[in-house]
Amino acid sequence: MATINSTVISGSHAIPALEPLLSGKRQLLLVTDANIVRLDAVVQIRTLLANDGRQVTLIDNVPAEPGHHDVSKLVKRVADLNVEMVIGIGGGSVLDVAKLLSVLCHPESPTLDAMLAGEKPQQRVTSVLIPATAGTGSEATPNAILAIPEQNTKVGIISPVLLPDYVALLPELTTSMPAHIASSTGIDALCHLIECFTATIANPISDNAALIGLQKLLKNIETSVNEPNNLLAKLEMLWASYYGGVAINHAGTHLVHALSYPLGGRYHLPHGVANAILLAPCMKVVRPHAVNKFAQVWDLLPDADRTLSAEEKSFALVEYFSALVKRLNLPDNLATLGVPSTDLSALADAAINVKRLMNNAPCQVSHDDVKAIYQTLFPELITKGVNHE
Ligand SMILES: [Zn+2]
Repeated sequence: MATINSTVISGSHAIPALEPLLSGKRQLLLVTDANIVRLDAVVQIRTLLANDGRQVTLIDNVPAEPGHHDVSKLVKRVADLNVEMVIGIGGGSVLDVAKLLSVLCHPESPTLDAMLAGEKPQQRVTSVLIPATAGTGSEATPNAILAIPEQNTKVGIISPVLLPDYVALLPELTTSMPAHIASSTGIDALCHLIECFTATIANPISDNAALIGLQKLLKNIETSVNEPNNLLAKLEMLWASYYGGVAINHAGTHLVHALSYPLGGRYHLPHGVANAILLAPCMKVVRPHAVNKFAQVWDLLPDADRTLSAEEKSFALVEYFSALVKRLNLPDNLATLGVPSTDLSALADAAINVKRLMNNAPCQVSHDDVKAIYQTLFPELITKGVNHE
């Protein structure tokens, strides 16, 4: 758990509010990706950064799954620039790389290899994180995920020093996001919030963040997808995602994310898509152990029937999650996504080994339970009654 000291700037038409943060800085590093860099709002931000003769070095090629070699190359590229401020604009991968560079650009920082070996950084240069998707909440977490291709795995570097000085939630950056990305990243944020809310180590701070985030998300997720120019709905989703990050910081995810990792790692399913497929089946397993919390979440839905009993509300919430994924046109099974049903046991082996998350679920979940969840994602196995051992 890390204390979040970031100052948050938010609102539509708030880009000029970035200007005072740049006072006294001469050498800036802008980290983004090839798609985001073309957005009108990013062009506007670049112009603002370059005002008053400031030098702006642009990195616009952060890959979707950045590895330690990618970051090492970037560090070499900017080593002689005396970077004073790192600005990250993008999705979770871009923000994670920007967080790492804010530390690695500091002259007294350990090397990336030393950090991967466990050495803790102590300082960073000033950092500003601007999410361009409403999903990961990376701007509010002390984590950066890096791929280690040689070991076919990913590792997390975790340090409170990675948390940014400033966060800017600017809805103009998310209006041109394709609907399927807005849907899947929104569901990722929903998973962060509902998993943290029901986590074993949930506490009043994470519960508070989760409830504020869930209220905003449940009210705005569909509007933000169906009305992409609705700046208020987009801003509310950015806040929901931010609160998801805050909740992760204090509690952490569990079942959906544990079962989602192997689907991302082996089959490269987008993180939000894998989570969308797993959301309702996992919450069905969690429900009996979190009836009152599910009922609390049900009451946040704008049209909720509040006369139901807590038990009825908890069942209704699982149904709502299932229907929401369908309404957002996200897949709800694995059959058409290139995952063979013969891999059920291997998937369960991998998920059960994500012990930190499995232990954070509010119920004991066995290997057979995990396998049974994956099995529900192959409709042909259910209809034919096939039992793969
Ligand atoms: Zn996630």
